[in-house]
Amino acid sequence: MPVLIKKEKCPKCIKCPAINVCPNQALTQNTLQAPEVDIDKCTECRKCVRLCPFKVFES
Ligand code: SF4
Ligand code: SF4
Repeated sequence: MPVLIKKEKCPKCIKCPAINVCPNQALTQNTLQAPEVDIDKCTECRKCVRLCPFKVFES
C-alpha cells in the first residue's frame, strides 16, 4: 500500500523536504500545495513518514 497524504495536516512548507528523500521520485508538489504521491512509484519505504514533523504521511 502506498502512503496516504493527510493534506489537511500539512501547513505547506515552502518546499516539502520529503520530495528529496523519496528514493523513487514518488512525491511531487505544486507551489504552496501539500505534496502528492504517485501510488505506482511508492514502495512504502516510510522515509517521508519519518521526516514530516506534522505526520502528514501515513502508512
Ligand atoms: S514536510 Fe510535511 S508539513 Fe512540510 S510540506 Fe511536506 S508534508 Fe507538508
Ligand atoms: S514511502 Fe518512501 S517511496 Fe513512498 S512516497 Fe514516501 S519516501 Fe517515497
